[in-house]
Amino acid sequence: MKFIAVFASLALGVSALAQSIDSAPCPVTFAYTGFARPDQWQHLPGSSLCGSGEEQSPVEFQPGDVIPGSGTIILDWGTVPIHVTNSGYDFRVVNADQTNKITIGGETYVLQNFHFHVPAEHSIPGSPAAAEVHFVHQNSDEEIAVIAVFFSSGSATTPIWQPVLAALPDDLCDVEETGNTFNLAALFGAPQRPRTLRQYDWYEGSLTTPKCDEDVRFYFLPMMFQLGGADARELAKFGENNRPFRPLNGRKLTRVRP
Ligand SMILES: [Zn+2]
Repeated sequence: MKFIAVFASLALGVSALAQSIDSAPCPVTFAYTGFARPDQWQHLPGSSLCGSGEEQSPVEFQPGDVIPGSGTIILDWGTVPIHVTNSGYDFRVVNADQTNKITIGGETYVLQNFHFHVPAEHSIPGSPAAAEVHFVHQNSDEEIAVIAVFFSSGSATTPIWQPVLAALPDDLCDVEETGNTFNLAALFGAPQRPRTLRQYDWYEGSLTTPKCDEDVRFYFLPMMFQLGGADARELAKFGENNRPFRPLNGRKLTRVRP
């Protein structure tokens, strides 16, 4: 029996890893409250970094943690079909094709999904936020770069987000295929592809969900969308999904400006 148990847990670990980026990791093995709450994630298979990692996310940056830097992000974003998944811990739009990419420092990362955290997970100076969306990208070495954008509380949600927020499935592991497309390029106003970004903040952290893999870079864009109260409640209808802040351990937020 022990032999079988070992192989079962290995299989679970591998499939959880493979699915953590691309698609809804059903069945869900962790939660934000109760038995499988964040301070217990380190006990999940393959997830010890959730407890022992020195560069975990999310974090809270103070003004004194910000240092200047330079660089560019080339955003090669177009449209993505709006297929919204209820993963059991977030609502996410899974990228159905491999055409949306970013290039940073000569490395190209392909968009895997984007998903919402309510309230926002990170805190950076100048961006008090009610929610945060993560655009998760991965390169050929399976290194991860996350483009993060914040929402502030507003009277009404920025219209471009409405087709996504109107399609949040109630059923666990369900996928709502709307037939609509989401124009990522239009998040910046007039669509442009590719687009070179010269203003952003970044730091090095981890996935904010098990297995809490490190060497994940977060890039925060200097833009803020609005999230209306009804949409905020809808996104959090099954509970809030922000991991508590993790220790900064001396890390800095690099503020890139032209
Ligand atoms: Zn996330």
